[in-house]
Amino acid sequence: MPNPNDQKYKVSRDASHHVTATVATCIDPRFLPVQFRYWTDRYGEGKFELPSHAGGAKQFAEEKEHHYGLQNLAIALEKHHAQEIVLVTHEDCAAYGGSTTFGNNFKKELAHHTEELTKAEKRIRTAFPQVKVVKIFYTFDGPREV
Ligand SMILES: [Zn+2]
Repeated sequence: MPNPNDQKYKVSRDASHHVTATVATCIDPRFLPVQFRYWTDRYGEGKFELPSHAGGAKQFAEEKEHHYGLQNLAIALEKHHAQEIVLVTHEDCAAYGGSTTFGNNFKKELAHHTEELTKAEKRIRTAFPQVKVVKIFYTFDGPREV
């Protein structure tokens, strides 16, 4: 077990909690560590948030209330000064039934996720019209902007 008192686990009280982006992504453990690296390289260490929810941006594509997800985004924008909302879904996502749902056909899966991300974007633009929205379909070969 790691030593919880190790210097490397401490958080500087002087660290800024202002971020460039908040990235609504899925909880899938295959995609989280690599995404953490990608978003760190893209925005810088400590310059993004990674609120995770099964299905990622799927929560905003569905016809239902989105209190929890929208509340996360509202705090990101108001308290952490995020300028971008990144909506992420990914390949072989269990929340969509995996790639088998699309007959393991990448083009079909990509088309469906592009549609889902577009629905999610519309909902987000209604709630937060002033914010830049980025849509990402994260594949096994890396992130793909749609
Ligand atoms: Zn997933």
